[in-house]
Amino acid sequence: MENLKRPWVRGSCIGRGSYGTVSLAVNKSDGQGKVFAVKSVDLSSCLKPQADALENEIQILRSLSSPWVVKYLGDDLTAEQGSTTSFRNLHLEYLPGGTVADLAKRYSGADVDEEIVRSYTWCVVSALKYVHAMGIVHCDVKGKNVLVGPTHGGAKLADFGSAAEISAASPPCGSPLWMAPEVIRREYQGPESDVWSLGCTVIEMVTGKPAWEDHGGNTLCKIGYSDESPEIPTQLSELGRDFLHKCLRRDRTQRWSCDQLLRHPFVSSSAPSNSITHQSPRCVLDWLNSEFSDEEKEEDESRLEYEIRAQSGRGRIGKLASNEGAIWESDGWVTVRNLICDRAAEEEGGTSSE
Ligand code: ATP
Repeated sequence: MENLKRPWVRGSCIGRGSYGTVSLAVNKSDGQGKVFAVKSVDLSSCLKPQADALENEIQILRSLSSPWVVKYLGDDLTAEQGSTTSFRNLHLEYLPGGTVADLAKRYSGADVDEEIVRSYTWCVVSALKYVHAMGIVHCDVKGKNVLVGPTHGGAKLADFGSAAEISAASPPCGSPLWMAPEVIRREYQGPESDVWSLGCTVIEMVTGKPAWEDHGGNTLCKIGYSDESPEIPTQLSELGRDFLHKCLRRDRTQRWSCDQLLRHPFVSSSAPSNSITHQSPRCVLDWLNSEFSDEEKEEDESRLEYEIRAQSGRGRIGKLASNEGAIWESDGWVTVRNLICDRAAEEEGGTSSE
């Protein structure tokens, strides 16, 4: 476990999943106020599978490094002010652009721009190609786990809590409506199963809905045991439809690999450009001093504001940016103490609480 020497503060919650809470966080004392995302589980109240999933995610993300996979920044064990419990935390780069699950919503009823779908799809296939080459299956590919990146059309694969080594015979897992037939039948989960989930994710990007309507057990039976594949959205081009047919073959041995998919004309020339659409914030000051147009700045700021507003937002950011600084202990931020460092310090001083 990496011991972060400096304490940090937890901001507002920016995401909640079944395995943990994701919050905005700021390094308190490095002088730069670096912003990051922190995924945490409360060890005193979580279920064992939740703690195990976070531990698994930490181990796997530590070993990965790809521009298309959310970046691991560290991990620690902390006690939080006013709480007797301890939290296990995974520190990640913060991507403020939301997830591709919300792509269709941004078009408010109009057809989603297929160029952007191609580009996000290229990123996810590239991430999966890399992950599979590293001997890992993601096991939970879906729109909510693809974060919109800072470059135009860029996206990064996140949430490795269910990921497993290809060779490991772990019980099938994932999100049922994105699961491949062989996973529902509990027969097998491998790279091919991720490709099926990728196909479901492309449908989700285009329609804003999961690839299958959710009728509980009936739907699971249909996915696992019928001869049906999800309906291909009519608004997709012929190329897009063909790409999906290659991902959504019920017989996993017939599905295309990520290598093959990257050569498919639907995505082969859709690598995202390098133009930055929204700068991934490195520090709080980035929002306030950036060179963006007012419109862009407003968009980014409003997201950050939205995220921090629950704990009084802009005033606090302003304080962070000013010489005055925030009064961490009283401004509603949660001070995070590193248990390992604290204990070491206590022991040095002979005041161990144990
Ligand atoms: P699930 O129930 O899907 O397994 P989970 O508990 O594993 O979820 P994540 O999927 O990792 O949690 O994160 C939940 C949400 O938090 C994401 O959908 C996203 O909205 C947000 N999120 C996660 N990581 C980041 C990040 N690095 N930057 C910005 N937002 C993030």
